[in-house]
Formats: sequence, structure tokens, C-alpha cells
Amino acid sequence: MGKNGNYGGPKLRDRLCQLIRQHQLDANLVKSYAVDFCGTKTLREATREQVEAFVIHLADWAEKDYEKLRKQVLCRDGWRCQVCGSRQNLQVHHKQLRSQQGSDDDLNLITLCSACHEGLHRSC
Ligand SMILES: [Zn+2]
Ligand SMILES: [Zn+2]
Repeated sequence: MGKNGNYGGPKLRDRLCQLIRQHQLDANLVKSYAVDFCGTKTLREATREQVEAFVIHLADWAEKDYEKLRKQVLCRDGWRCQVCGSRQNLQVHHKQLRSQQGSDDDLNLITLCSACHEGLHRSC
């Protein structure tokens, strides 16, 4: 456990952290987005190529309207998990995963708590 470089290695992780700091992103949400983007159950299962592609995508997305879109979705969903109603650890999930050409359109996004989000990914 943990000794493979699948997460992307130190460089990619640094780049990711840098992006999060630079754009003041929510690390938790970025992680959940990465999982949707790569279509894996956890980020650790993603290949280096997937993480690389995600970092590039995130950089692009962060420049645009990540925060605005995220808030828009959370707001529309009443700041509650759409499965269990929790108001804690909210994340934004792509109904059609990014890895399956799902878009960043708000119609494709839904608010879930981290537990429900994880459960959902585990079941697919
Ligand atoms: Zn939930
Ligand atoms: Zn998801």
C-alpha cells in the first residue's frame, strides 16, 4: 500500500498542491473531481497519465470558473447531500463521469457528502 507511484509521483502532486494554493481551491473537492475525472475508485488507483491529464485540465478549469460553478451547484442543491441530506463534507460529483466524456455543465453535477460520494464510486 502506498509505495506505488500511481498517485503521480512527487512532482505531479506538487503541481496539484500548487494549483490548489494558487486558486484557493478546496483540496477535498479537487480530490473528488480527480476521481471523477479519472473514473477510478480512489485517486491512488489512477495512472500517472490520468493524473497528468487531470492536472492539465484542472489548471485550465481553475483559470475559468471552478469556484463559481461549484458554488452554483452547491447553492442549487441547498448545500445538502442529495442522497442523505448531510450538510458536511460536501463534494461535487459528475453524474456522467468525466472519464466518460461527462461535462462540467451544472446539469451533470450534483452535491454529495464525501461518504455518499465514496459509496457511489465504490458501487460502480
Ligand atoms: Zn450523503
Ligand atoms: Zn464522483
